[in-house]
Amino acid sequence: MKKFVCQMCGNEFESAANRASYCPECRKQRQRDSTKRYIERLRNDNDSVRRLGEPQICIECGKPYILLSGSQKVCDACRKKHENKMKIKSNSEHRAKTYDSCIVYVKKGGEKQRLIEYAKAKNISLNELFVTAVNEYITKHPLQSS
Ligand SMILES: [Zn+2]
Ligand SMILES: [Zn+2]
Repeated sequence: MKKFVCQMCGNEFESAANRASYCPECRKQRQRDSTKRYIERLRNDNDSVRRLGEPQICIECGKPYILLSGSQKVCDACRKKHENKMKIKSNSEHRAKTYDSCIVYVKKGGEKQRLIEYAKAKNISLNELFVTAVNEYITKHPLQSS
């Protein structure tokens, strides 16, 4: 056993190795730090250091998980939740890009329910019902061109 002085804490320690820079405590601490740094790097730079089989940080719950496919962004437990979220997000983005919206008011007291039930019975969406109805009305009652 040789005596060394730890470069981190300055304590003397013994080691059987030829050269040792850090006492066992500090060595452990350094390992923890480098793991932490690695995880932080993953967090900041999520796409450039993604290798299969390596730990990644789940963007939903923040827990580490092992990367099994290139597109994986969340741990197994969060997968379903995340997929649904993405679906809803892309649906509403698609809707916002493709459609304008207008608000239609109907009388209180069952009018809305009546329309919803009618659309359901006809197997169309309430939106389709309105658009179809309006277009049919316009076809039947065109603006008079003078
Ligand atoms: Zn030390
Ligand atoms: Zn998760």
